[in-house]
This record gives sequence, C-alpha cells and structure tokens, in this order.
Amino acid sequence: MQPLKQYWIAEALEKDLGDPTNPNNVMSFKQVIDLDEREEFPHEIIDWLYNWKLQHYYIPTECGGEFTSFDEFIAFVRVLSRRDQTSAIAFTTMFWSYLTWMAGTDEQKRTLSSFMKDANGAMCLAYSEKAHGSDLLASDVRATKVPGGYILNGEKWPINRATISGVTFVLAKTDEAGGARSLSLFMVEKSKIDPANYTHLPKIYTHGIRGSDMSGIRFENCFVPESMRLGAEGVGLELALKGFQITRALCAAFSQGAADTALRTTLKFALGRQLYGKTVFDMPQPKRTLTDAFLDILICDCATIGVARGFNTMPEQISVWSAVVKYFVTTTLETVVQNVSVVLGSRFYMREEHDWGIFQKVLRDNAIISMFDGSTVVNLHALLLQLRQLTKSRARNAGRNQDTLQARLLATFDLTQSLPAFDGKKLELVNRGGDDVLQGLELALTSLSDLKTDSNLNSEVLQQIIQLTQMVQEELKTLDHQITESTFQFGHEQAPEVFDIAKQYCVLHAAASCVYMWLYNRHHLGDFFASGEWLALSLRKLLLTFRPAKALPARLGDEAVSQELVRLYSHNRMFSIVPFQLAQPQQQETTTDATQRLQLQA
Ligand SMILES: Cc1cc2nc3c(=O)[nH]c(=O)nc-3n(C[C@H](O)[C@H](O)[C@H](O)COP(=O)(O)OP(=O)(O)OC[C@H]3O[C@@H](n4cnc5c(N)ncnc54)[C@H](O)[C@@H]3O)c2cc1C
Repeated sequence: MQPLKQYWIAEALEKDLGDPTNPNNVMSFKQVIDLDEREEFPHEIIDWLYNWKLQHYYIPTECGGEFTSFDEFIAFVRVLSRRDQTSAIAFTTMFWSYLTWMAGTDEQKRTLSSFMKDANGAMCLAYSEKAHGSDLLASDVRATKVPGGYILNGEKWPINRATISGVTFVLAKTDEAGGARSLSLFMVEKSKIDPANYTHLPKIYTHGIRGSDMSGIRFENCFVPESMRLGAEGVGLELALKGFQITRALCAAFSQGAADTALRTTLKFALGRQLYGKTVFDMPQPKRTLTDAFLDILICDCATIGVARGFNTMPEQISVWSAVVKYFVTTTLETVVQNVSVVLGSRFYMREEHDWGIFQKVLRDNAIISMFDGSTVVNLHALLLQLRQLTKSRARNAGRNQDTLQARLLATFDLTQSLPAFDGKKLELVNRGGDDVLQGLELALTSLSDLKTDSNLNSEVLQQIIQLTQMVQEELKTLDHQITESTFQFGHEQAPEVFDIAKQYCVLHAAASCVYMWLYNRHHLGDFFASGEWLALSLRKLLLTFRPAKALPARLGDEAVSQELVRLYSHNRMFSIVPFQLAQPQQQETTTDATQRLQLQA
C-alpha cells in the first residue's frame, strides 16, 4: 500500500472505479463520451459516487464527515477528473459547502451535512449575473429585509448545477449604499422556499463539459428565512472571496486529472504507432514533447500540493498562493494538452478515434478550468494588487526568524509531516505576512549547498540545481525592484505590464515550490525523484520565461525522465511526484489461455 496516507482514498476510489478503458466500467471513457455526445447529465456516475460515500470526504470531520486535508482532496479529484471532468465538476460543486463550514451556524452545518450525507444532496454557487460577469459588487439580485427574513428578486446566470441541486448559495445585495459591505450570502434550501417564487433557466449548450447542468435561477418575490443567511449581513463579498481562495486553488486538481489523460492516451499512441520502422516515441521530437509535458505535470504537482498543504500550515498566505496556482497550473496544463495534441496528430481532432475519442473531450472540457471560478485575469489581478505589499514584506523579513521559516516550509512541503487542522478563520483577504515560498530561497540555497557532500547525488545535476535556484533568486530581486519602482495604483485599470509581473511571480513561486519539494522529500519519494534530473530540467524550463536558452546552463540529458514516464505508464501509475497506483486493466483473456482451454475441451 502507498505509504503516504493522504493518497489512500484516491487509490481506493481508483481501484473501485476500475480501468477507464474497459467500456463496462462506470466512468469508462466509452461511457463518458456517450454521455457527452448526448449532452446528458451523468446521473448514473453521480449516484455511483454517492453510493461509494465520496460525499463524506467533502465534509470536515468536525462537521460529521471524513474530510481532513486538502492534499487528500486534490488526489481523489484528480482520479475523477482523469476520467471525466464533467462528472468531476458536477460532483465537486459540493465543495461550495465550505462556505457553510467556514461561516455557518452549528444548525446550518448540521443541516448541510445531513443533506449531503443522508439525502445525496448537492449545491451550486449563484454569484454570476449576465450583465455583470466578474463584477460581483454590481449585483442586481436584491435581498430586501422583511420580518423574519428577506425577499429575494433577480436572476443568476450562468450557474453550474443551478437546476439539479437542492441548495443554492446566492450572493445578493442587502444594502444599496454599503460599498464592499453591500452584499450578503444566503444558503437557500430549495425544499424550504415556495416553488412558485423561483424558476430554473434553460440549459446552456457549452463547448465542453457538455453533459453539465449549466443553467441559471430566477427569484421573484421569494421569501427566504433569516436562518438561511450565512454570516452577518454585509459580509457576503468577504465570504465569497475567502471561499474562492479555497476553490480556486483546488481547481488545479481538475486540470491535473485532464493533463494525465491527455498525456497517457497520447503516449499510448506514440508507443504503439510505427512509422519509418520505429515507434513515434522513438523519434526525438515527439519524445521531447511528451517528456516536457511530463515535466510540466511534475512542476504543477509541486505547486499544487504545496498550496494544498499550505491551507493547513499557512492559511494567512493563501490569498497569494491560491491565485498563483489558479493562474499558473491551469494555464500551464492547458498548454500541455495543446502541446501533446501535436504528437497525437490528426487523431486529436477526431471524435471517435483512439480511446473512444477521449482526447478531444479533454481538450474541450479542460478549457473551462482556467476561466471559471475567477478567470486568469481576475486571479492575476487579485495577485498583482498584493505585489507591492509582498515586496515590502520580503525586504523587511530578509534574514529574520530563519528557524521558524524553515519549520513552516518543512511542515508544508515534507509530505510525511502530519498537518495541523485547517482553521478557515485564519484566511486573510490580502496577504500581510509575506510569501514564505519565495522568502525561503536563501534557506533553500544553503540546504542545497550542504548537499555537496552527499556522495549519492550526481554532482553535475546538483550543480545545475544550485545554479538555476540562484537564477530564480536573481529574477525575484529584479521583479522586486520593478515593483518598487513602478507607479502602481490600486484599482481595476492595471497596465498589461503589471499583469506580466504577476505572471512572472507565479513562475518563480512554482520554481521555488519544486526546490522545496525535492529538498524535503528526497528520502521518501523513490529513486527517480531523489536523483533530481527532473528538478534541474524543470527549473531550466521555468527560467526560459525570463532568459533565452543560451543564457542558461546546457540542458541535461532527459533519458531518465523519458524512461520514468514510460515506467509509470506501463505500471498504471499517476503521472505525479507521488505516482500512486491507478486501476489495473482487467486480466485480458490471452491467446495462450484461450488455446489451453480449447485443448482441455478437446
Ligand atoms: C461553464 C461555466 C460554468 C460557470 N459556472 C458558474 C457557477 O457555477 N457559478 C457562478 O456564479 N458563475 C459561473 N460561471 C460564470 C463565470 O464565473 C463568469 O463567466 C465569470 O465570472 C466571468 O464573467 P464573464 O465571462 O461575463 O466576463 P466579464 O467578467 O464580463 O469579463 C469580460 C472581459 O473583461 C476582462 N476582465 C474582467 N475583469 C478584469 C480585470 N480585473 N482586469 C482586466 N480584465 C478583466 C475579462 O478577461 C474578459 O476579457 C460559469 C461560466 C461558465 C462558462
């Protein structure tokens, strides 16, 4: 069994869902493609997941469920998403329940927990409005105070699972002149409001996730009791933004599941297809594309897992960290899917060829991840507003409290460390304490230098890791200087150049995450991980954002990485720094078996 406990649920779910290439299994590629073609909601799959009791892992233990940590959560969402993002997203709207776990009364928590566990209940998030998109404060939906509750009026659109859900989290205006405190959040239980006062809007036909219940909801003079308000009146926007910090970071898991399937199905093709007397994988160019895709997945893994664990260890910094992964991981993995499509050749564009056409579905479905839950620009905007403060903190904290910083980094990145309980009250709207991940680069360089005496390490690889980490630090200094010199003003009309700085910040953050992940896990994630070639290659890849190839150390040979990719594929393991076991293909009836049986019958 996998030694890291946080992967046990993912492995168990994988095993029970079975091989996705077996058409008879629930969530098989064939089944999800059929549903997609018919644009049908995946009721049967969702029921299967409820019967498996997966919903318990969306409810924290203190609220009666089994959820303990975000790194466990992202592992099993990857399992769902590698098979079908439509079902994964449909089931995972349940994670909006975190709004209640964070801000609800004991009674609201009990109600929701029982709704999810005992009634197979699901929820949706109704924030967006047709006229206002990302501009939440402009909401036209009104909740007017009346004795005992509110009268809700207005329309939310487009909303995933608006129709097929029993609870709707609605953001509505309760104070016209309240500014940032003009919105309140309601946990509307449809079973307890008058059906005459709300209607569901028609299904929206989408480019990807076609089987989703994409629709909307309209309230007309709908009475909602005061007991359905979450938190105090006027704290709706603050709650919404804190809830986004959680769900945006977790969106990375959807992209990682998709990237795994895109790479796996393409690798299968490349290993099997013969051209010019060799396999496609034997040709240097396709091989490099697939190896680079694997490296990107490993980089994203380090960033995502670090942030997932950061919820427990450093919740005060999540306002920055979640924006980093929502931007960096989703867009990087979108590019991975595009890049490997070139190796799949014409088949990527065909809707039936190759593993039932799962690639074209992944390509369409995955495109939404970087857009919903706050688009790329919205996340970069949330990050860039904090850059000046981060730069100041970095200068102020330089060289101070190194032992506590080291301890926090260890708790976050060492996957064998047990995590403290998550305390949602510690989430901050804006980061005040700095960013440990980039603050710790000096410490990382000292630790790397100490490894020079380790005879198990290839000195050339270690030297590159050190050199490239120094470059990451140099680029951070340049960025800090640019931020200090800029004439930056708060607001929505930011220059494109500031967005570029925010993008670069994300790349540096990801690079530093890879370095810590290696430093703190070299002894327990296997030989491939420990040898560090993947890290040197990944850092070099990330630094290409800043410097031309010829200004970087020469690329190390990547044969070990290519071989690991094929090894993980052959053993049905996740493409990950923690390559946990995936469902094994069913024992096929081999020719030998069949022949033996025929001989016995004769
Ligand atoms: C499949 C799908 C599922 C969805 N699910 C839900 C759901 O469950 N619940 C829900 O509430 N909503 C949902 N949405 C809505 C989604 O969150 C909105 O589409 C989103 O808020 C963006 O709004 P918009 O597309 O109208 O773009 P707008 O916000 O109108 O943006 C228009 C343009 O302005 C740019 N822009 C916006 N803000 C900035 C900024 N600060 N700086 C620079 N440029 C900016 C954008 O990039 C874009 O180019 C879903 C949408 C889709 C497509």
